[in-house]
Amino acid sequence: MTVILGGGISGLSAAYYAVNKARLASVALLEASDRVGGWIRSRNSPSGAVFEQGPRTIRPDGPAGTNTLNMVEDLQLTDKLIRIRRSHPISSNKLIYSEQALHLLPTSLKGFFKTISLLDRPLINCLWTDLRAPKVSKEDESIYSFVQRRLGQDIADRIISPIICGICAGDARQISVNFILKSLFEAEQKHGSIMKGLLMSGLKKSSKLKSKKTKEDTDESAENPRITLARIARIERWAIWSLQGGLEQLPLALADNLVKRGVKIETGTKCERLTFKEDRVELLVNGDMRECSRVISSLPAKNLAELLQEQHPALSAELRAIPSVTVAVANLEFSGNVLPLQAFGFLVPPNENLPLLGVIFDSCMAKESTASTVLTVMMGGAWFEKYFGPNPTEEQLLKTATDGLRDILYITDKPVAHHIAVLKDCIPQYVVGHDQRVKRIHDYISAHKIPLAVCGSSYQGVGINDVILSAKQAVCDVVK
Ligand SMILES: Cc1cc2nc3c(=O)[nH]c(=O)nc-3n(C[C@H](O)[C@H](O)[C@H](O)COP(=O)(O)OP(=O)(O)OC[C@H]3O[C@@H](n4cnc5c(N)ncnc54)[C@H](O)[C@@H]3O)c2cc1C
Repeated sequence: MTVILGGGISGLSAAYYAVNKARLASVALLEASDRVGGWIRSRNSPSGAVFEQGPRTIRPDGPAGTNTLNMVEDLQLTDKLIRIRRSHPISSNKLIYSEQALHLLPTSLKGFFKTISLLDRPLINCLWTDLRAPKVSKEDESIYSFVQRRLGQDIADRIISPIICGICAGDARQISVNFILKSLFEAEQKHGSIMKGLLMSGLKKSSKLKSKKTKEDTDESAENPRITLARIARIERWAIWSLQGGLEQLPLALADNLVKRGVKIETGTKCERLTFKEDRVELLVNGDMRECSRVISSLPAKNLAELLQEQHPALSAELRAIPSVTVAVANLEFSGNVLPLQAFGFLVPPNENLPLLGVIFDSCMAKESTASTVLTVMMGGAWFEKYFGPNPTEEQLLKTATDGLRDILYITDKPVAHHIAVLKDCIPQYVVGHDQRVKRIHDYISAHKIPLAVCGSSYQGVGINDVILSAKQAVCDVVK
């Protein structure tokens, strides 16, 4: 029997690939809480508006985006898709709040040549900064330090820092450059500057593509004459997508698929210890002993660390060293349209010294104008304790959120509905040295021949596409 630990999107995906692709006969999934979905949680306000507590949109791009869309198609969720094209205002209007004003980020090539209010210079200028900056050889560094060195402090403070708040609620001064700028960092390390590196790899790619492109397209159509959802996403130029009724429809559909295929999903079932014996794995589950032949863990690294502490303290220490941050989420619904413009929302740079990480304009995703405005205010992250202490009250968080909306968006109306949640340790932080740590974790598991594979947001990307792909990889790792 294969046991999968955790019923968030990565655990459910691992079970999906285990039965649908690897065709494993006996699979059980253990989830500590009373529901599946993990951080993906959609609620309805009394008026029926969707309040997303965790993720709300997914990107269709790249192999990971394609992989998720293939799953969506297989789960027959296509009819529920909300497709947001690149021409939609929420794709083109992304804002940053700085020095008491909201600033639009350039999204077109033309915009890169214009002076932008956020920086007092055109973005294109940073290319000259990059070409003049000396190369510094490093194995890893913080994303803040890399951007400051190569593109300028204003870009590090006013663009990259708030973007990192938006992606992982983290502090760019601690997050590794490899988290989202790996290719730019490698370009500098190989060729001396980002620009030179990108030009070199662009030239290489375009000569490879010329010979490959037509062949790949023909192969793809020949192998699969059906137009796949991923191909439609490319043709229709989607920027992001979501699901009607909320993103929780995805884990729910997965769980449904798994039950139909004989996977035993046990909620309220916490794994407390793992012991790897010569010929089996022993699991302590809700105080009772169980056995299986292999384990796929989709648990956050620090939770897995607890289970391995007794038998593998060195591995446990590596897992525990992957930190995570807490985010407070305020979903707010206002009557009518209270927004000054249609946009994805805005992010707040940490040097503004505000408890807000950013605000998402959820109702702007709707095609038609809606009867109400739904906003989500994200607060805390790497600065949670600084602003809120260990146990903020719901009233305190609601007040912080509504004060922020009043001061930045001039919304003085009272929300007609709200939901407040504190998501404890919800986003792992890929701090400097993360890639090397993850490699040590994999090396330890394979050197000790432990029948264990790991997936989920603690290791190779925090986005939903990343964790689904990591689940697919984990299944390959345990069956090989
Ligand atoms: C506020 C927020 C907004 C986000 N927005 C986006 C977005 O818009 N787009 C995007 O792509 N990504 C987004 N993300 C990231 C994405 O939601 C997560 O990376 C993803 O949901 C993580 O899934 P997971 O299955 O790896 O982990 P989890 O969801 O944490 O699931 C792990 C599960 O393991 C269970 N568990 C823990 N310990 C045990 C144990 N001992 N035994 C059994 N079960 C256990 C937990 O109860 C949990 O259900 C967001 C995340 C957050 C927090």
